[in-house]
Formats: sequence, structure tokens, C-alpha cells
Amino acid sequence: MKIICIGKNYQDHAKEMNSQPETSPVWFLKADSCLQKDTRPFFIPDFSSELHHEVEIVLRIGKVGRSIQKKFAHRYYDAITVGIDFTARDLQRKCKEKGLPWEISKSFDQSARIGTWVAADQLKNKQALNFWLKINGHMVQSGQSDDMIFSPDDIIAYVSQFMTLKTGDLIFTGTPKGVGPVKSGDFVTAGIQNDQLLKFPVK
Ligand code: MG
Repeated sequence: MKIICIGKNYQDHAKEMNSQPETSPVWFLKADSCLQKDTRPFFIPDFSSELHHEVEIVLRIGKVGRSIQKKFAHRYYDAITVGIDFTARDLQRKCKEKGLPWEISKSFDQSARIGTWVAADQLKNKQALNFWLKINGHMVQSGQSDDMIFSPDDIIAYVSQFMTLKTGDLIFTGTPKGVGPVKSGDFVTAGIQNDQLLKFPVK
């Protein structure tokens, strides 16, 4: 199983990172060992002093496909949830400065947290889904799925030109603005529309 993460998929986030939007989806991978999907605490790793949340809509691939045409892409994911692409921002900044790969800042244990799966129909029906993240009950990030620069179908069509998508693969579709730190003692909740799909304490 692989975890594909899309970068810079919202204008407002690209802006807050002082970065220009791209003309095709940009992605990186997290290892399957990054995945955490229950209510266990998130333990801040000791290698970072700037651990950021990035709340994102996550797609679950439901069947194998490669070189998928955009018009058929919606058939290839069967569930969605909200997830957090945890990022060691301090390490990522150093990697960027040196032009090095990002893995140490993105692909560490617990860095891909996902919530309870729900049917993908709402997203496929092109409704604008609101997704959000709260820390200690305060809204810190909120986005609209229809603000994605590259839609789920765009992403599936593009990525599958390069890599076969397999059943159970996950796609983190990018974060809107509002990324920021989590710290020990925080309690995180996240959801889509009125449904809270994810909750856990930070230690
Ligand atoms: Mg992200």
C-alpha cells in the first residue's frame, strides 16, 4: 500500500508557503508505516520542534488501474475521509533550502493520520464539501473541496500515468491555508461537513 500526497493544491496554501501553483499535480509519497487510523495519541517526535498539521480530504483507491482516463477516474476511489499530513516544517525547510528530498519531514511514523471512512458519493457529485480541523475546540483550518486546483479525477488520471494505483492506496489531496503547529496537550478533531471523523490527543 502506498500513500500519495498532493502538494500545493489550494491557491491560498501555496500563497502562505510563498510558492507558485503548478501546472500539473505535484506529489510525494509516505510509507505505509506512517499510517495511523484510530484515536491513539499522536506523539510529537523528538526530531522536530515545529510539527505542523495539514488537514486534507483523503481518497481510498478501490480498484487497480494505470493510465486511467479522467472521465473514468471517479470509478477508482470508493471512500473518502479527512486526514492530517503531519509535517516536520523545520526539517522540510532545511530540505528545501538544500534542494534535498523531503522524506524525513513527511514520511515518519504517525505522519499520515486518517479518520473514519465515508461514502465517496458526495465528493463525486461535485458538491463543495467543507472540511475542517479544530485544536482544543477552536477552528484552525477549514477548506472547501471545490477549491482544489486539481480535482480528485485530475489527480487520479495524472498520477496513474506514472504509477499503477492499487486497491487500498490512499491519496491525500492537499491542504488549504491555515497550517500550523500542534503541541503536547492539544486535542485535535477533524471532519467533513457536520461529521466529526477524527479525534485524538497530542502528547
Ligand atoms: Mg499536505
